[in-house]
Amino acid sequence: MAKVVKFGGSSLASAEQFKKVGDIIRADETRIYVVPSAPGKRSSKDTKVTDMLYACYELAEAGKNFSKALEEIKARYQEIIDGLGLKLNLDNEFITIEKNFKAKAGSNYAASRGEYLNGIVMANYLGYEFVDAATVIFFREDGTLDEEKTDKVLSAKLAKCKNAVVPGFYGVLPDGTVKTFSRGGSDITGSIVAKAAKVDVYENWTDVSGFLIADPRIIDKPAGIEVITYKELRELSYMGATVLHEDAIFPVRQQGIPINIRNTNAPADNGTWIVGSTCQKSKYVITGIAGKKGFCSVNIEKDMMNSEIGFGRKVLQAFEENGISFEHVPSGIDTMTVFVHQDEFMHKEQKVVAGIHRLAQPDTIEIESDLALIAVVGRGMKSTRGTAGRIFSALAHANVNVRMIDQGSSEQNIIIGVADEDFENAIKAIYDIFVITRL
Ligand code: ASP
Repeated sequence: MAKVVKFGGSSLASAEQFKKVGDIIRADETRIYVVPSAPGKRSSKDTKVTDMLYACYELAEAGKNFSKALEEIKARYQEIIDGLGLKLNLDNEFITIEKNFKAKAGSNYAASRGEYLNGIVMANYLGYEFVDAATVIFFREDGTLDEEKTDKVLSAKLAKCKNAVVPGFYGVLPDGTVKTFSRGGSDITGSIVAKAAKVDVYENWTDVSGFLIADPRIIDKPAGIEVITYKELRELSYMGATVLHEDAIFPVRQQGIPINIRNTNAPADNGTWIVGSTCQKSKYVITGIAGKKGFCSVNIEKDMMNSEIGFGRKVLQAFEENGISFEHVPSGIDTMTVFVHQDEFMHKEQKVVAGIHRLAQPDTIEIESDLALIAVVGRGMKSTRGTAGRIFSALAHANVNVRMIDQGSSEQNIIIGVADEDFENAIKAIYDIFVITRL
């Protein structure tokens, strides 16, 4: 048995948090490879080291004095080093960083130092080998991850280390410059390391005990999700559930390695298991509910649309030509609706409308704004009768007008469109019927 353990920024924000992490790692000797984030916020008003680094580098790039900003970053690490009683000196590292900032090494390099330095501290604290991610995680020239090279070099390196710390969030481009993943990307590094080391579990430690069925800002103390499939998670994260970076599932998924989301502040909790497939039924018919506000629908009508070959393609071409991605396209006999993100669409709407007229010659085009989309996701829905019926009767009882329904072909997902102002009530009604009253 072997595990890769990734710890998020809040789990490593202070010496006190580091100690909890040390206890977790030492409590289980199968936790052999560690992927740390940069120190996060110590309290809600604090600033993440990654953000401090971006701000500091901005000063450097503008040719302003950045010594004070860099000193503050150094102080964050010193506080951790002192709190842990380590004999580690980062002076030389900071001299190099200062030199590289002056040489305008780039904001990616700057941000990556958060994880790099935290990796050095962590390796020193645990007595593990430090493996710089820039020597084992490779990007192609176009910025995409070079999976093959990474897997080859990383697995060869790890085969030689009994225990190691690999900092999250960054790797290297073919020309030797450091590149980061998008924000929250240490989750991806953890997944890549788990795949390369072919471990049995990828534990992702954060500050919540896994995924919740619904957003706690809308539902008071929602129930947790014990087991969720990769597919269900994709649907929920796409719709706004944020615990894990959405790209983090791909590397481990290829190897069938489960991810276990755990809470550093409540290590006895089982958290959420993310798996390929499972025969474990979830406690409720639905696994989770998530949603987003701020959509627009473009409703297009044309008599005899149903018999016109290529109509849909022409309409979507108008969106493509303006660089707008669409979310959902429910259609009727003579109508077709395209759901788009309002903020993306707003500035280009007249261009898109003109494009649709030019390409598809519809009878009418109407735009509706301020719509929300809600995804009700669950592998159990396939084998349960009446799920859609229950959702709609719950919404009717809550006086929510349903503007759109789209059931994904996977039958794991029902998407509902409602007015932005009905968003919270709709989620409450759905949660209520499936989780509280369990009708
Ligand atoms: N430290 C980086 C961020 O704040 C990456 C991470 O934490 O995963 O986005």
